[in-house]
Amino acid sequence: MHELLSATSADRYVEAMRETVDRIAGRLRDTPQPFSGASREQLQELVDSVDLDAVGLGTATALREADDLVGEHAVWFHHPAYAAHLNCPVAVPAVVAEAFIAAVNPSLDTYDQSTVGTLMERKLVDWTCGRIGFAAGDGVFTSGGTQSNLQALLMARDAAGAQGTGLVILATASSHFSVQKSARLLGLGDEAVLLVRTDAHGRMDPAALAGALDTLAAIDRVPMCVVATAGTTDRGRIDPLDAIADECDRAGVWLHVDAAYGCGLLVSPTRRHLLDGIERARSVTVDFHKSFFQPVSSSAVLVREPADLRYVTWHADYLNPADAEEPNQVDKSLQTTRRFDALKLWTTLRALGADGIGSMFDTVLDLAARVHDELERDVDFELIGRTQLSTVLFRYQPVDVSDAQADRLVPLVRRVLFESGRAVVAKTVVDGRPCLKLTLLNPDTTLDDVRGVLELVRGAASALVERDDLVGAAEVGAR
Ligand SMILES: *Cc1c(COP(=O)(O)O)cnc(C)c1O
Repeated sequence: MHELLSATSADRYVEAMRETVDRIAGRLRDTPQPFSGASREQLQELVDSVDLDAVGLGTATALREADDLVGEHAVWFHHPAYAAHLNCPVAVPAVVAEAFIAAVNPSLDTYDQSTVGTLMERKLVDWTCGRIGFAAGDGVFTSGGTQSNLQALLMARDAAGAQGTGLVILATASSHFSVQKSARLLGLGDEAVLLVRTDAHGRMDPAALAGALDTLAAIDRVPMCVVATAGTTDRGRIDPLDAIADECDRAGVWLHVDAAYGCGLLVSPTRRHLLDGIERARSVTVDFHKSFFQPVSSSAVLVREPADLRYVTWHADYLNPADAEEPNQVDKSLQTTRRFDALKLWTTLRALGADGIGSMFDTVLDLAARVHDELERDVDFELIGRTQLSTVLFRYQPVDVSDAQADRLVPLVRRVLFESGRAVVAKTVVDGRPCLKLTLLNPDTTLDDVRGVLELVRGAASALVERDDLVGAAEVGAR
C-alpha cells in the first residue's frame, strides 16, 4: 500500500495528522524548558542509530520516531526562556495554513498551478506595498531575507548597467552578512562592499555616506546601491532613512532598505513612524517570519517601480512565454517552483487583523525597553546601548570582574545555559568586545520570565568566576 495523499489515503491522512498534532500539542503544554539539554554526542548517537536503508516502517511509526527525535530535542521558540535569535513564536492560523499548503501543495510560479493563490499573493504584495507607502509597487514572496536581499542587489546591479566592473555597494558594518554574500554571488567580489561610517549606535552616518558617494564619483567607481537597515540584527537600530534617501536621490543611486527585522513596524499601532522614509526606497526586504509571527519561511522583496522586476524575468516556452495570457509570478522571482507561503500571512491577517499583529510586536518592544531599564539599574550587568526594537545586549561584569574576564565569560555562560536546556541566549561582538544577546520576540514573555533568564546568567557567570581557574585558564589559553 503506497502512502500518497489521495482519495484512498484521506482517512489515514486524518489519522496521522491527528496523532501528530496531538503529540505536538502535548509537548507545547508540558515542555518545561526550551531545550532538552541533550548533548551533541547523545543526539549524534540517536541519529546514527536510524538505518535509512531499512524497509519502510509505515507512516505512524515513522512519525512517532520523528517526534522522538525532533519533538523531544527541538529548540522551542515559544518558550519564555528562549531568547536567542530572530525566531518568533508562530501564529496558530499560520501553522494551520502551513498544513494546508503542504497538503494542497500549490506552486506559485504560474497561474495554472495555483489559480487563486497567485491572486492572493499579488493582493498581499500590494497590501505590503501600501503599508510601505509605494503608490504602485510590486514584488514577490521569497524564502527569506537573504534571498530578498540577493534579488534586490541583483536588480540594482542590472539597473546600474555597467555589468559588474567598478560597481560598489554601500552598507555598514551593522548590515546583515547576506549583503556581503550577495556581492560575492553576483560576481562583484568581496571588495565591492564599502562600509560607510556609523554613529555610536551603529547607524549609517548620512554625512559619511555623502562623502563616500563624492569620493566614488571622483575616482570613477559606480555606486550601484546603498543598503540601509531598518532594524540591525544585533543592535535593533534603524538607519536614518530620510537622510539616506536624500543622499541617494542627490547621487541617483538605488536605495535598498533591509527591513527583515523591523518590518513588524509596518503594522505597529504606535511606532510606524520609526520607518518614515522607507517609502523612498527603490526596493525593500521584509521577513514575515521574524516580526509577523509566521513560520519559516515567509519573506518578500518589494519594489517601488514594478518594471525593476524585469531584471529577473526569463521566458520559457513551457512555462511563461512572453505572450502568456495568464498572470504569472515566476517572471518576478529567482525561484521557479515556489511555496504558497503567502497563505500563512493571509490567514493570520484575517484572523488577528493587522493591528493585532502590530500590537504583538509593540508588546515585545515595550518588554525590551523594560529589560533595558532593569539592566541599567543592576550593578552586576553592563547594558550595551539601547535598542529601537527588541534586542538586549549586555555583559556580566560586577566591579571585581575585569574586562578580559567579562569577555571570556560570554561564550562560557551561553554554553552553560544551552547545555542545561533551561535558557537559550545568543552572543555577538559589539565594538570589538563579546557580549550576550537576547532577542525578544514573544509577546507572552513577561518581565519576570526575562528576570528568570537573567538570574540564570548571573548564577552561571558568578559560579564560573568563583571557580576562577576556569576563567583564568581560558585567559592563559588565549595568550
Ligand atoms: C535575518 C536577517 C536577514 C536574513 O534573513 P533570512 O530570512 O534569515 O534569510 C537579512 N537582514 C537582516 C537585517 C536580518 O535580521
